[in-house]
Amino acid sequence: MADKRDYYEVLGISKGASEDEIKKAYRSLAKKYHPDVNKDPGAEDKFKEINEAYEVLSDPQKRQTYDQFGFAGMDGAGGFGNGFGGFQSGSFDDLNDIFSSFFGGGMGGFGGSTRRSTGPQRGNDRFMRMNVDFMDACFGKTETIDIDVDEKCSRCGGSGAENSSDIETCSTCRGSGSVTREQRMGFTVYRTQSVCPDCGGTGKKIRRPCPDCQGRGYIRKHTKVDVKIPAGINDGQQLRIAGKGERGINGGDNGDLFIEIHIREHSQFIREGKNIFLDIPVTAVDATIGTTLDVPTIRGEVTMKIPAGTQEGTQLRLRGEGVPDVRGGKPGDQICTVRIQVDKKLTSKEKELYKQLQDIQNGSKKKPWDQFKKMFS
Ligand SMILES: [Zn+2]
Ligand SMILES: [Zn+2]
Repeated sequence: MADKRDYYEVLGISKGASEDEIKKAYRSLAKKYHPDVNKDPGAEDKFKEINEAYEVLSDPQKRQTYDQFGFAGMDGAGGFGNGFGGFQSGSFDDLNDIFSSFFGGGMGGFGGSTRRSTGPQRGNDRFMRMNVDFMDACFGKTETIDIDVDEKCSRCGGSGAENSSDIETCSTCRGSGSVTREQRMGFTVYRTQSVCPDCGGTGKKIRRPCPDCQGRGYIRKHTKVDVKIPAGINDGQQLRIAGKGERGINGGDNGDLFIEIHIREHSQFIREGKNIFLDIPVTAVDATIGTTLDVPTIRGEVTMKIPAGTQEGTQLRLRGEGVPDVRGGKPGDQICTVRIQVDKKLTSKEKELYKQLQDIQNGSKKKPWDQFKKMFS
């Protein structure tokens, strides 16, 4: 999906929309574009788009990630994704609510499937982007981030029940989490499967809920997470923080949190992999007769020899003065590109000396200008 629309735009709501407003906007759009109702080509795509937007915005945790890190960070870019792609069980529950109330049945026949597992399921991974300063990426740093994480309730182990004996198999769906109904319309029998209305799809019923989590099985915690950025990390690299992703279902483990690193540019140093490139200004006189210069590197100044006769664009290498290797190998080099500076303002003394030099060179036969002219005769 190359150009996806902003989720708020898709639902036609403002960034500050309340949960009710989101639900309302979703309901009216879902009714309008449901493929059973709307036969326009493109209605199905639109319907999927609406569902995807709702999927994210109706979940406070996903919405927070989306608001904070934007759209590109969560989906598609750089090959990571899946975070919010496709349909997940959440929107189907709501959809079934809607269609049972409007069309007197489930939403069988359309794209996805309402079949779901009632066993423990691992939560989705979560994705974030982090901007890192140039030097911090070179030498490493620990950044602390604040996030909300749904942690499995330790008291009930995620079951949501006071005791394991308080968990019963749902009698309506016999533990499958879904119910099937048949409907005859003319010569056709429509079989529709929908989420069990009694247990909400878990296949279980809880007699006495766990008092710590009120039967939810998880507890939302505002946590600080230390993100260790290794020295020499590359732009676009991802760091994985285990267990800080979205909550699992039915006592399943949380997914992981992936942080994609974006390195801010430096005003002078240009990084290519482990190597640093730097343009250094050298006067025409220094380039002609040679000198030594104290050149800035990411570790401080290093004395470098400019050999006599150095030409514009010459690249001089400072070995080992580049970025540390993220895997612990040899560091890169710093490559200095010579930019010859010609004086624009001269003192009278300097002018006099240049004039003398010019006179000497005019007397010599080996002037480059004469050789150049020969090529035209
Ligand atoms: Zn049930
Ligand atoms: Zn609990």
